[in-house]
Amino acid sequence: MTSTGCLFCQIAAGEIPATIVHSTERVLAFRDINPQAPVHVLVIPKGHHPDLTALADVDPDLAGELLAVARTVADAEGLLPGGYRVVLNSGPHAGQIVFHVHAHVLGGAPLGPIATV
Ligand code: 5GP
Ligand code: ZN
Repeated sequence: MTSTGCLFCQIAAGEIPATIVHSTERVLAFRDINPQAPVHVLVIPKGHHPDLTALADVDPDLAGELLAVARTVADAEGLLPGGYRVVLNSGPHAGQIVFHVHAHVLGGAPLGPIATV
């Protein structure tokens, strides 16, 4: 399922270029265009789900696959020894900007504290 005009659907369809680092049947990982850490990769389902709430409601297994791919990406990027952060903004109060669910994989250096407000 794709959503017309959705940026990440267009990346998943290959219509907008991105630096892809991992791809499975249902999940795609690519570098964030505005990295907030030495490694900053976004992990998305190839199908359109607006946010975590919507995804977990209809396909919790796919939500789990996102986390499994996040771990695979962290390994491929050499992040396992130092550790890494996975951030998943869901909804406006969390600061979600692109409403196609995505997990941020961040690492490569010590990260600051998670913003609370
Ligand atoms: P959010 O705030 O929705 O959790 O994060 C959206 C992320 O998408 C941001 O980190 C932003 O830099 C990234 N982003 C926005 N547009 C593009 C794009 O066209 N390509 C890539 N690779 N990342 C994008
Ligand atoms: Zn989409």
